[in-house]
Amino acid sequence: MATVISYGAAGTVTGSCHLLEVNGIKILIDCGMFQGNVEDKNYELFGFDPTDIDYLILTHAHIDHIGRVPKLVKEGFNGVIIATEATIDVAYIMLQDAAKILIEEYNIVYRKAQRAGEERNTRQPLYDLDDVDNTFTKTIMKAQYNQKINLSDFLFITFHQAGHILGSAFIEVEFIEGETDKKVVFSGDIGCKKRLVIDGLENGLTTNTLYIESTYGDRLHKSVYESIEEFKQAIIKTIDRGGNVMIPSFALERTQEILYILKQMSENKELENVNIFLDSPLAIKATELYNKHPFFLNEENEKDVLEFENPFTFKNLNLTQSVQQSIAINNFQDRTIIIAGSGMCTGGRILQHFKHRLWNPVNSLIFVGYQVEGTLGRKIIDGAEFISVHGEKIAVKAEVYTINGFSAHGDQKDMLDWISTFNGIETIYLVHGEDYQTKAFKDVIKARFDNVKVHIVKEREHIYI
Ligand SMILES: [Zn+2]
Repeated sequence: MATVISYGAAGTVTGSCHLLEVNGIKILIDCGMFQGNVEDKNYELFGFDPTDIDYLILTHAHIDHIGRVPKLVKEGFNGVIIATEATIDVAYIMLQDAAKILIEEYNIVYRKAQRAGEERNTRQPLYDLDDVDNTFTKTIMKAQYNQKINLSDFLFITFHQAGHILGSAFIEVEFIEGETDKKVVFSGDIGCKKRLVIDGLENGLTTNTLYIESTYGDRLHKSVYESIEEFKQAIIKTIDRGGNVMIPSFALERTQEILYILKQMSENKELENVNIFLDSPLAIKATELYNKHPFFLNEENEKDVLEFENPFTFKNLNLTQSVQQSIAINNFQDRTIIIAGSGMCTGGRILQHFKHRLWNPVNSLIFVGYQVEGTLGRKIIDGAEFISVHGEKIAVKAEVYTINGFSAHGDQKDMLDWISTFNGIETIYLVHGEDYQTKAFKDVIKARFDNVKVHIVKEREHIYI
């Protein structure tokens, strides 16, 4: 008998963490950070003993899938970490960045408490840079796509291309129970068949059980090509009126897609005399990793890599590493495009740019990624007239665009199409979605696949597979 218990991303989109136990072998699939409204849960106990875990499998290096790994190590995990090489490389820079943010946040709260004479009550950071370094001293097994890994004589796992971000995978687990061979697939986060800068989602597998994310289970995206057009028009309109464009962007994947489009615009002479800043040390590092792992880029881009050496650089792009360079961007008050983190505006340099530009209706703010409930980005999308940045009240007067077709997540149709390519599915378990997303997704799955059982997973519920 095998069991799965979800300790995160059940009833919410963040904190991915699923514990699979097969004949006494314990495999944790992802160990992500909770974000937005539920971020206090990061400080709670895991609900299982980290010293008991034999294997930690990482589907991809987004922080909501890896963000609690250093905490897991700090609390005694000593098993084997398995992930693709690109995921390991990306995870290192993402976790270093996460540790820096945790420490910065701690310092802000500590100083405030100190002023109130209550510094002793300040909660310690979840982990620090040493904990991140310790994580990468653990045994790490690098997985290749489509290569079966034997965890024991009755348990095997295979990584498959998830088409989500660089290095991303969905995981096929195969185990032998008595005379029967059983399979369960964990989707991690899945993209779609055709992506701009990475390979598309693999399909056509056989499985009894599917754990699938539901982020966009309730909706359809515009196509990526419509979104590219919408994005270009928003930029041209803003630049033509002498304004500036702010783009809060996730360091990985979205930033590279945006750079790729801007590069095409630049080569088509649509961005003459426009200053473009990539104002994120993390995104700059992440972009460099695309040169190290060209194998993962799609065919079209592989040609670009050979031809241009780096498919993401072009003449009017400035990379700003230091804080001084970032502050100097304030001197550029028109015809400027700024790409900065964080993607959901919960911190990072984008906030500084909001202070200088969000109040001005000549400017634009373009959201190109999903905004979790409770984040500043979500508040702006939901129509906030004012926001608070570092205690300063700022009017939201810039034109706000939400362009959702760039999503690294497949939409409802992509996911239904993916499910339809599987053979032998008996039960589908829905995770990684808010209640309204999983409920809507359950209804459409039931309508399309009437022989398949569908269940919305609750946190810490025991599922027997
Ligand atoms: Zn993801």
